[in-house]
Amino acid sequence: MNRKRAICLFFVCWTLPWGFHVRPAGGCGCEGDPPGNPNCCWCADGVWVCQCSGPCDGLPYGWTCVDRCYQNCSSWEPGDAIDGSVSVWPLTVPICYQWVGFSSDVVDNDARVIGTFYPQSTYQTAADTIVYSWSRSPAVGRWHPEWDPPVWSSAYWEAGPCIGPVTARLDVDDRPDEAIGACPCEGEDNRNDDAPPPYYATVQVVLPTGCTACGTPPSVAVSITEADGSSLCVAGDYGKSKPDEPTTYTLKTPCYNNCKWRAFLDSADSTFKICRYCPDNPATVCCLDDVSGMTKQQACAQLAKYPHDPLLTTDIDTQSFEDNCWCRGCVAVHEERHKNQWVANCIQPQVDSFSAWCSSHQIDILCSQYESTHCATAMTATVKEEYDVAWYTRVEAAYDSWNALPDKEADARASERDCYQAIINALKAKCSS
Ligand SMILES: [Zn+2]
Repeated sequence: MNRKRAICLFFVCWTLPWGFHVRPAGGCGCEGDPPGNPNCCWCADGVWVCQCSGPCDGLPYGWTCVDRCYQNCSSWEPGDAIDGSVSVWPLTVPICYQWVGFSSDVVDNDARVIGTFYPQSTYQTAADTIVYSWSRSPAVGRWHPEWDPPVWSSAYWEAGPCIGPVTARLDVDDRPDEAIGACPCEGEDNRNDDAPPPYYATVQVVLPTGCTACGTPPSVAVSITEADGSSLCVAGDYGKSKPDEPTTYTLKTPCYNNCKWRAFLDSADSTFKICRYCPDNPATVCCLDDVSGMTKQQACAQLAKYPHDPLLTTDIDTQSFEDNCWCRGCVAVHEERHKNQWVANCIQPQVDSFSAWCSSHQIDILCSQYESTHCATAMTATVKEEYDVAWYTRVEAAYDSWNALPDKEADARASERDCYQAIINALKAKCSS
């Protein structure tokens, strides 16, 4: 029997006011005891008619049937009761920014339906305890200590040293009210335990203004500062040269790479002392430039002073050579060759090594130290010391390799000999013209 019909019969047979616990007077000719609670059944046309027949007899929310009587109960309005959204401010922050606020307006709208006066019912809003739980991806930075663990409707987060999007996730759960007098029927939620999907909000972490990501490390050629080498030249020397101090380097403003700074090498300089020719050495007799101004006879006469053609390296050291065939320009070539030896074989390889070290060495971004959070201030005195140690270790190695360089003089004399051979060749050409 459906509920509406039961109500209708109730009215037709008994013109009594509403009431659940009033037994109608007899007189319909029914036999035996009514089924269920006699207060909720009556006799109609010789048949026992009751308020309801079973617990789920099409009753409205908030009502059930117990022992053939209407009985109010408590059910939960179905649907997604927990609702709201998550927001973040600011949307974009520099690395190590300390106050990123994630907040939510997620609330529980659960409503309980309770029967009042059949077939009516009323709504009661639940007072569920909401349980918030924040997480983030990737797991960089940290929750602000005062919001850790993050179990409130808002959470503050401190950006870490890494750039990129960080997404906060809010899971919301409710500790449901107890289901008191729960309705037993299908379709009626007796527990308001909601499981909404997680909520998300994303903040972008970017580099501070003026800072950039690292590109390709530059290739740095050492520059040479030439120092006055006159003090090097003592009696008997023709020329003299050697590497000297200071050596210096500069770094580029640190760039960002994978949550760290890197300071690429920008320039390197080495001092080289040169005395191109010593003052008490023979004055120039004949250099290449002089040949064009000579007559054929002068050229032939000068050519005759050279002991060999091609010239031997050992010829340069002979007394007659020094007296008759001298050219200070070729001494300069000799010393220039030494400078090249220093650059190519000693200091440039160490500069390359230092540059590689700089390109891979990482400067930690420590969010707790303000200087380290910006590229312009990350190179602190303490950090710079590491670079100085790495640099001077390599400079020492360059000096050591200079001292150990084999055949340094033979190599320089060979260049000097080539310089004289060019003079000889010009003289030959003039003499045979
Ligand atoms: Zn030399």
